[in-house]
This record gives sequence, C-alpha cells and structure tokens, in this order.
Amino acid sequence: MLTVGVDIGGTSVRAGVVNADGAVIDITRALTPGEEGPLEDAITTAVAELATRHHISAVGLAVAGFVATDRRTVRFAPHLAWRQAPVAQRLSRRTGLPVVLEHDANAAALAEHRFGASRGAKIAVMVALGTGIGGALLIDGKVYRGAHGVAPELGHLRLVPDGRPCPCGKNGCWERYCSGTALSTTAVELLAKNPGVSTVLVREALHDSRAITGRRVAAAARDGDPLALRAMADLAKWLGDGLALVADVYDPEMVVIGGGVSESAPLFLDDARERYAETITGAGHRPLARIRTAQLGDDAGLVGAATLARDLASHTTPNGRKR
Ligand SMILES: [Zn+2]
Repeated sequence: MLTVGVDIGGTSVRAGVVNADGAVIDITRALTPGEEGPLEDAITTAVAELATRHHISAVGLAVAGFVATDRRTVRFAPHLAWRQAPVAQRLSRRTGLPVVLEHDANAAALAEHRFGASRGAKIAVMVALGTGIGGALLIDGKVYRGAHGVAPELGHLRLVPDGRPCPCGKNGCWERYCSGTALSTTAVELLAKNPGVSTVLVREALHDSRAITGRRVAAAARDGDPLALRAMADLAKWLGDGLALVADVYDPEMVVIGGGVSESAPLFLDDARERYAETITGAGHRPLARIRTAQLGDDAGLVGAATLARDLASHTTPNGRKR
C-alpha cells in the first residue's frame, strides 16, 4: 500500500508518496498560496499528479498549526489561511481518498518513532528547532495532546523572566533563546556589545543586520567564527536548561532534536547534554534521557502524515466505512 504525505508549511507545500518502510519514493513541490481556496487547489493538484504515477490509498497532511483532536479540522494556523476549516472533509471529497490531518511536529515525532531516532522509546519527546520550537510528546508511540488538544507547547515555556519579547505576547519564551531565530538575535546582540571582535559577521551586519540569519550564524560557526561560536554556545546552554525542565515534567526515555538547527548539532549538542545533566533536578542521582538528533531530516513531517494515512486506510473499507 502507498500513501501520500503532504507537508504544508508557511512557504511551501511538499507532497510525497511513501511506502511501508517510510521511504519517500516520489515527491512534488509548490509554493504555499496565501488564500484558502488556492491552497486546497494546490494540495489537490499535487495529489492528482502523484496519483497519475502511483496507486494511492489515502492522504495525510502535516500542518503547521492547531489541529482538532478528531484530526479532521484545522482550528488555527498562524502562517496559513485556514481558520476552523473542515479540511479533511473538503479534500477527501475532491481527491476521492480518505484524508487525515496532524500537527507537523506531532507528525515528525511519529515518523521518528516509527522509522528513525526514537524507535521503540516508551516516552519520547521531540524538540524541533527552526524558526521557533516545535514540540511533541509520544507515550507508547501515541501523540499526547492534553485535555484541549494544544499540548505540549514547549517553545513558549518562560525561561527568562522579563526576557526577549515573543510574538505569542509573553516575554522570555524558550524559543526566543533556542531556535534559528534565537541564533540570529544572539549574534546581533553580541555584535553590538563586542564591536572589536574579529568576525566575518561584522562586515555583513554593516550593510544590514537582517543578513545575520540563523542559517548564516550556523555556517559562520562551522567555519570557526568566534562570535558565531559564542552564539552557538549560548543556544547550547538554553537547550540544556529547557530540556532539564521538560525532563522534570515528563521524565522521557528519549529526546529527539530535529528542525533545521539540528543540522549543526556537532557544534552544540554535547554542551547541551552536559548542561542538561547538570541542571536537571536530582542531578547525578537519576537515569537521564538519551538525547539524539532526528534521522529523517526535512521529510519527517511528510513521512509521519503518510504513515497516519496508512493507519487510516488499513482501518477503512473501500467505501469509506470504518472496519
Ligand atoms: Zn512565546
């Protein structure tokens, strides 16, 4: 059986055909349209294109937003047009296939649990470091959603009272200190405080401080730039501190670090592990979660959504009734 997973982010829609081993065997991409109708057109077109080349049984969508617990409605997505939208029903009617939705961090966590870094872990936490922090908690391989479907909102744990302002309306949220965006903010702050430090970033910032993106800081750190390495060390400290809090609440067996920033893990993960081990409650007197990087990269959300679609299709008869 083959299913399609569609990763719907703020900038692009990626749809891939996924087999039973979690391998992506075909993929198509489009830019994310800003309005609801064109967005659903783009997804329908991508699925139809893949269906000309493969026999597809169901479709799963990984959505950057809040998904209702029945996984059929998008409640709210900050970077997408959907508001209380019955997306599964509408796309199922248009594609003629069963459709299931999942929050993108949950989908990525499920894929890592089925095929990647957290295989077999009973309590697994996913921390995806990108623009912000995408968090997920799996208990026995099932997504934990909380009473109202919004848990766990790890990125907005307040780590720094009166700290950096966050678009969520609070101050000092974890993701303001530990994400791709945070790498950029920290580097710009360090540049302002240390104008004499010799760094490739100084010249770039002279023209426009917006040039100092998280990706740029990570690349400079890989090249040994001293200021970029300090920004990376700062991220490592906040990652360790945040994980210690998370572990105090969940006591996980495995923590998977994903997202674009995880590609630079050799520059921060050992320091983060050390900080985590020092700051966790009962340090030195309890077993520690293993902390690993994600294995499925950019495809994790897509593969997780396709895997949910597979589970759905295997419980649904051809005429759409539940077995
Ligand atoms: Zn926040």
